[in-house]
Amino acid sequence: MHVLILGGTTEARRLAEILAAEAPDLKVTNSLAGRVAAPRLPPGGVRIGGFGGAEGLAEWLGAHDVDALIDATHPFAGTISLNAATAAGTAHVPLLALRRPGWVPGDADVWHEAASLEEAAGLLPALGRRVFLTTGRMGLAAFAHLEDLWFLVRSVDAPESPRPPHMEVLLDRGPFTLDGEREVLSRHGIDVVVTKDSGGAATAPKLMAAREAGLPVVVVRRPPTPRGVPEVADPRQAVNWISDRLEQGILPASD
Ligand code: NAP
Repeated sequence: MHVLILGGTTEARRLAEILAAEAPDLKVTNSLAGRVAAPRLPPGGVRIGGFGGAEGLAEWLGAHDVDALIDATHPFAGTISLNAATAAGTAHVPLLALRRPGWVPGDADVWHEAASLEEAAGLLPALGRRVFLTTGRMGLAAFAHLEDLWFLVRSVDAPESPRPPHMEVLLDRGPFTLDGEREVLSRHGIDVVVTKDSGGAATAPKLMAAREAGLPVVVVRRPPTPRGVPEVADPRQAVNWISDRLEQGILPASD
């Protein structure tokens, strides 16, 4: 039995860890896009790089006798999720999306929703001058025209051009702490935060720190998810789904 996990997230790694511990006989391949120079590798097999669109992924599923496909990619990785839905249909492989829930604002939050990075950039001049930009190293072009603003850009690897003219890069990767995020906001005199609605606990402390400081947060909404794909929110539910589909006894059933 062979499970392919499309990964690049904490949840994908966690799923691979549970399967390695609880179902050592199951063949698991983790697929990473190759965006990060030194990725945290999950247990099990690892392949790195694109498949060549939905067609390439469908071919890979057939050539490697994949019995179940888990799309555990980031909520903003919309292309690979669409490709997974198409390829799973073509190759007749059951597909599950493992997607962490989005964040929900509390009463004290000052959130401004944007449909895209471009829309987020358009909101910024009215909200502040010193921006903590946490949307990742890709897509900085959307902010490159904002010459009057200063950006603190946090990313795992260094961002490339085009990028805003006045900026400092903070190379770091989560999980982050509330104390650490408070310190970042105050040390850099931040007056507005920009984030994708990534969800999850690892990067949520910036939202709490912004709330405490009374800072506005521009939240970029998620892209739509493919229709008809069953979805679960945490790795344990994904294990249960796999367990239901694979031969009885290969995976222990659990709560
Ligand atoms: P994307 O725009 O949805 O995908 C672009 C292309 O990258 C896909 O068509 C596919 O190439 C390849 N790809 C993406 N994920 C892949 C995977 N897990 N394994 C193999 N190929 C993959 O993706 P993205 O937004 O650039 O994200 C890339 C990776 O970074 C994902 O694995 C995602 O989980 C992770 N990530 C993304 C974000 C984010 O904000 N977007 C944040 C954290 C982590 P082919 O068409 O050639 O197959």
